[in-house]
Amino acid sequence: MSFEPVIGLEIHAQLLTESKIFCGCSTAFGAPPNSHVCPVCLGLPGALPVLNQRAVEHAVRTAVALGCTVHEASIFARKNYFYPDLPKGYQISQYEEPLATDGCLEYLAGGTTRRVRIMRVHMEEDAGKSVHDGFPDSGSKTYLDFNRSGVPLVEIVTEPDLRAPSEAARFFQRLRGILLAAGVNDGNMEEGSLRCDANVSVRPAGSDALGVKVEIKNLNSFRFLERALDYEVRRQSALLEGGGTVVQETRLWDVAGGRTISMRSKEEAHDYRYFPDPDLPPLVLDAEWVSRVRESMPELPEARKRRFMTEHGLPERDATPLADDQELATYFEETAAAAKNPRAAAHWIMGPLAHRMKTAGAGIGEVTVTPAALGALVRLVDAGTISNSVARDVFERMADTGRSPEAIVEAEGLSQIGDSDELQAVVRRTLADNPAAVKKYRAGKTGTLGFLVGQVMRATRGRADPRLVNELLKRALDDPEGE
Ligand code: ADP
Ligand code: ZN
Ligand code: MG
Repeated sequence: MSFEPVIGLEIHAQLLTESKIFCGCSTAFGAPPNSHVCPVCLGLPGALPVLNQRAVEHAVRTAVALGCTVHEASIFARKNYFYPDLPKGYQISQYEEPLATDGCLEYLAGGTTRRVRIMRVHMEEDAGKSVHDGFPDSGSKTYLDFNRSGVPLVEIVTEPDLRAPSEAARFFQRLRGILLAAGVNDGNMEEGSLRCDANVSVRPAGSDALGVKVEIKNLNSFRFLERALDYEVRRQSALLEGGGTVVQETRLWDVAGGRTISMRSKEEAHDYRYFPDPDLPPLVLDAEWVSRVRESMPELPEARKRRFMTEHGLPERDATPLADDQELATYFEETAAAAKNPRAAAHWIMGPLAHRMKTAGAGIGEVTVTPAALGALVRLVDAGTISNSVARDVFERMADTGRSPEAIVEAEGLSQIGDSDELQAVVRRTLADNPAAVKKYRAGKTGTLGFLVGQVMRATRGRADPRLVNELLKRALDDPEGE
């Protein structure tokens, strides 16, 4: 029997604010432990939380970017549980009445439109961090760092609309791109600014019923998400195949072991005893303020991708990566404008430029070739001033030295040789230097033509137009008298 995976994601994204959600402490990453704390985020008795407006604004931007209905009123609740990194004994989170619901992300993937519904977007505070290693006495002690305690988060919950581990990973990647473009999150998964819990079940292919789900906690990379889901889909399928049943539980991804392991079953699940936080009034949003936030939204990656396809004629394959990254998109549009040839601009960026960035481990911000210079290079090719193969060379020198393509072509005499006496002379010389190949060609082994073309291209250091060389060679070979 074959099984179909059903996947839904719960994503926690840290909102880009200077200060925490209910106090004025800094949210800066990497400070000495417990240096960004106060009575509010340490949960000392009597301390009163005050909601950070910037956090609300970013949460609303998130909801708008995900096509959600933003509710006029939402409520902060106390989610009660005991854990050492939670000194208050409860986490403040929106529960029954969240900020926003009923969104949808629609995107083009491989020519087909995919839809993933967003169940809800709500605001909450982060907990502190238990530090289990790195100290001389870590073998017997756990340390606590409360710098993260009270950092503002949004939780984004999808409907179970994803159907493959790879699709879930790509969706998470897309969502990251949207959050970055919306300016609400820094996308830094290593620092924990963005993390994901994955819910997954399997069901017999063709069935509409949902199977029993397992939740995999705290996945902080696209690769871990995909691998953990792959493992879990195989594990659950094998269980059902063998006549067993899947137990509803929370599992962890064991990176070293390449497997998921059980953390707690449903019976051990907490009863959080949610109730509205008496220290915080309902969050009531001014409709005009919300529409101003809505109007201030920048173009998001999916819209940009479609524009790149229609306006610039790019194939989806190029449009997707170029539109996904804000900086890369800007670089592309500036290059396309300078080149007056968007497809060629995309080609250079996705090819030679991406290759160089990858080798150097550099981002687009560190590239020495400016969009204006790359555009000029494309124009030199389009005008027939240099051949494509010379352009490759010129590009590498531009990247090495930061010089303009015109300067390099000029200084090194790289302009393409047209149908000139100069090229005719090289052709004649090549034939004279390669009598064996000429003889073979004339005996009917016309395959040697390619070799001769290569010789001419070498002699001209790639500056000749290969098609023209082909033509001239053929003419000379077929008409020995003309030599
Ligand atoms: P819970 O009651 O366990 O919190 P929710 O209905 O709130 O479950 O959903 C939590 C997450 O689990 C959502 O992302 C949702 O898409 C996903 N989910 C729910 N049921 C399933 C299922 N049967 N298989 C896979 N994912 C599921
Ligand atoms: Zn504080
Ligand atoms: Mg739920």
